[in-house]
Amino acid sequence: MQLTGSEYLASLRDGRTIYLGGETVRDVTTHPAFRNAAHSFARLYDAKRDPRNRDVLTYEEGGERHAFYWLMPRSREDLVFRAAGHRHLSDMSYGMLGRSPDYFSGFVVGLAMTPEIFKTETADFSQNILAYREYCRDRDIFVSNAVTPPAGTRERETFVQRGKVFPALRVVRETDSGVVISGMKLLATSAPFAHELFLGNIQPLAPGMEKEAITCAIPMNSPGLTLWSRKSFEKSAVSEIDNPLSTHFDETDCVIVCEDVEVPWERVFVHGDIELSSSLYYKTAAHSLGNHQATIRFRSKLMFLTGLAERIAVTSGTSKFPAVQETLAHMAALDGMISAMIQGQIHDYETLANGFVNINRRAMYAAIYWCYLHYDDVCARLRELMGGGVMQMPADISVMDDPHLRQKFESYWSTTDHAALDRFKLYKLAWDAVGTEFAGRHMLYERFYLGPIFIARGHSSREAPWHEMRALVDTMLDGYGYGDVPAAAGQMT
Ligand SMILES: Cc1cc2nc3c(=O)[nH]c(=O)nc-3n(C[C@H](O)[C@H](O)[C@H](O)COP(=O)(O)OP(=O)(O)OC[C@H]3O[C@@H](n4cnc5c(N)ncnc54)[C@H](O)[C@@H]3O)c2cc1C
Repeated sequence: MQLTGSEYLASLRDGRTIYLGGETVRDVTTHPAFRNAAHSFARLYDAKRDPRNRDVLTYEEGGERHAFYWLMPRSREDLVFRAAGHRHLSDMSYGMLGRSPDYFSGFVVGLAMTPEIFKTETADFSQNILAYREYCRDRDIFVSNAVTPPAGTRERETFVQRGKVFPALRVVRETDSGVVISGMKLLATSAPFAHELFLGNIQPLAPGMEKEAITCAIPMNSPGLTLWSRKSFEKSAVSEIDNPLSTHFDETDCVIVCEDVEVPWERVFVHGDIELSSSLYYKTAAHSLGNHQATIRFRSKLMFLTGLAERIAVTSGTSKFPAVQETLAHMAALDGMISAMIQGQIHDYETLANGFVNINRRAMYAAIYWCYLHYDDVCARLRELMGGGVMQMPADISVMDDPHLRQKFESYWSTTDHAALDRFKLYKLAWDAVGTEFAGRHMLYERFYLGPIFIARGHSSREAPWHEMRALVDTMLDGYGYGDVPAAAGQMT
């Protein structure tokens, strides 16, 4: 089944509970803090239903057409197909929707490609993950995730000693039909716009934390589940022209709180297994297939920011200066690099058991690390090219409502080639990308969505061919001659 945009919006009116400060929000499709973002996600659903995109955004499985991101890849062509779909959706939000439906679906698909890891000595949840992927695929489900513990909860003992409730999410009891969970998790991006919430532990748990070792999925309207939204930038946007990105692409981040939420056994994937609880993402293709999308989405954003930089330079009359051209050339080169890093993930794909393939995880982690390292720099370069331009614009677009002020604005603020309003729109758009609160949240997002930067370095180190590196050194030390190490079978990189 493929939802249309309006069917998707209707599906969000399911009685979910979102707190925005002291206000309780029930319908994100009409509320001024969320409605435009909801409609931006709806456009992604409409794009999938558009006959022109049929072969790019959907595929056939079991006699039905499904969203491309539920495909379990079996060949390089499948990976190319998935990547093209990610690119299409990312471009639709200029890379601003990090957690579109094609992000966490990659995790679910990656887990379902290795269901046997969910079969342990104490439990067998392998069928659950297979069934869950099919459930999501067949109903066009949008899955959000919260797999990070609340800040300051690394040491449970301190809470216990001081007689305080340990806030981290855990199993509080078992019933015949499943488990009951209570506690907090961070930081479910896009949760108000998703159908399902995947809960787990991306970070290792300490010994003794069996109750916290729960991985499961619940509907967003589960009794006892509440979403605690951060400040809405959509709501505080002055107007579409003043804050075009905040207005349309504020995907929202929510702390989630569960109070006696019942999870049926068929939606439990890990229960009580501390080691598996966090290692499942790396033992399978989940973490790499999911975050492959993030590198493609980053590239859409980089192209957008580079395009903006060029337009700003032209509009401000600086584009002919060698130093400005150097900056633009630098940004263009960065785009070439991330493009190549995405191609590399696909070119050097990995073959898994069970007949499936995965993108090259080492190339993916390197690309994510590269994105971490360059995002601030890209934004700083765009900001610098803007000079004080945005500060020279009137406070907001209401200046156009007053005929007297409008006439003065249009005559004084226009340049020989650019109308005042066009300049206003361009500078405000660029500022929303790199200067506003919305932009500040993107700074954080690009820095933390996969965890802190040392985590990305750790993944790269884990996947690195240290033995080959050591072998090169040993060969040199052994004979001080030419390298004569055995060729890595057919491997170019
Ligand atoms: C915008 C945004 C969206 C997010 N979306 C999601 C989501 O959808 N789902 C989800 O599960 N999570 C999400 N996260 C959470 C994200 O995974 C965490 O923010 C991240 O893992 C960092 O954890 P923390 O915020 O608790 O910071 P902390 O772990 O407290 O880290 C704070 C600082 O301390 C440093 N630090 C911490 N430990 C060490 C150490 N051992 N050595 C050296 N330095 C250390 C970190 O580098 C960082 O600079 C999101 C975060 C942001 C900002």
